[in-house]
Amino acid sequence: MCSTLISSVPRILDGIAIAAQIKSELVERVNSARTRGHVPGLAVILVGEAPASQIYVRSKVKTCGELGIYSELHTPPATATTDELLELVASLNARDEIDGILIQLPLPKHVDTTRLLEAIAPQKDVDGFHPINAGRLLNGSPVEKVLAPCTPAGIMEVLHRSDIAVRGKRAVVIGRSNIVGKPLAVMLVNASATVTVCHSQTKDLEAITREADILIAAIGRPGFVTPEMVRSGATVIDVGINRIVTAEDLERFFPGDEARHASFAKRGSTLVGDVHPAAFAVSAAYTPVPGGVGALTIAMLMANTVKAAELRRG
Ligand code: NDP
Repeated sequence: MCSTLISSVPRILDGIAIAAQIKSELVERVNSARTRGHVPGLAVILVGEAPASQIYVRSKVKTCGELGIYSELHTPPATATTDELLELVASLNARDEIDGILIQLPLPKHVDTTRLLEAIAPQKDVDGFHPINAGRLLNGSPVEKVLAPCTPAGIMEVLHRSDIAVRGKRAVVIGRSNIVGKPLAVMLVNASATVTVCHSQTKDLEAITREADILIAAIGRPGFVTPEMVRSGATVIDVGINRIVTAEDLERFFPGDEARHASFAKRGSTLVGDVHPAAFAVSAAYTPVPGGVGALTIAMLMANTVKAAELRRG
């Protein structure tokens, strides 16, 4: 008798659908705030004219409009000094109709980024980078009460809304940045996972990642996580966003993928995450790139703006 091996097809965790769900819930909260006499407001500061930053900022402002959130864009020139920017932040801190302040990073080299981020009133810090908010997260403040960084908060939403259990699970985070890896590790610990954080100095990385029920890659290296690094049946969350522009890379990551080849031919580039696409096949569920974690980040910024408005007004 001949037996056939049937491998189960991994589930795609659709970040776009989850972001749409979050945004539609936010519309209700914005409407309800409006009926109480206040429209949540976000001020975005874009220093200089870096094209990538302009795209991100435009998309944030546009999403505010879609959800009924008030927004205003401040565009000081690239020559603005730290003191001038501190003045702008102070004026926004003082305005009652502004609930959230976002400074688009990176800032020009001459600007003291840390000083500026720490000047934002913690209750308006919708990026969740202020030490007060980072400290509250570390202290285990309830999620509803803390402004947490958007990308890791989005990852927690993906896990939660996809019914992927976290409590008691073994989670491995590759990457320890203040924006993604570290706050995510804290959120996973707060959600009762057993967490290991790996970085460039970690020894025998593969042995560690293979133990993960939930493996998160936030490294910034295209296709870094290979199939051998993933435990069969794990959930894989790919945070990386890397643009590839060469035919060699296209072939390395997407051999035989006609749709990718066609889109590459049209645009001259395509995106790959920090996980090699072949590694997804080993998993039980994964976030694709694009259309995974990236889709959540702006939705969580909107969620933080609405949350900031609600918390500040009790
Ligand atoms: P950082 O460059 O700040 O951090 C990268 C981390 O990866 C560091 O902790 C570094 O270790 C670690 N690392 C680098 N090389 C290795 C290695 N060989 N083995 C193990 N660990 C390694 O990046 P970010 O956290 O800001 O971003 C990570 C990725 O996520 C990027 O691709 C970025 O584009 C993407 N991103 C996506 C977002 C989204 O909305 N989806 C939002 C933010 C980021 P060490 O600390 O030792 O240097």
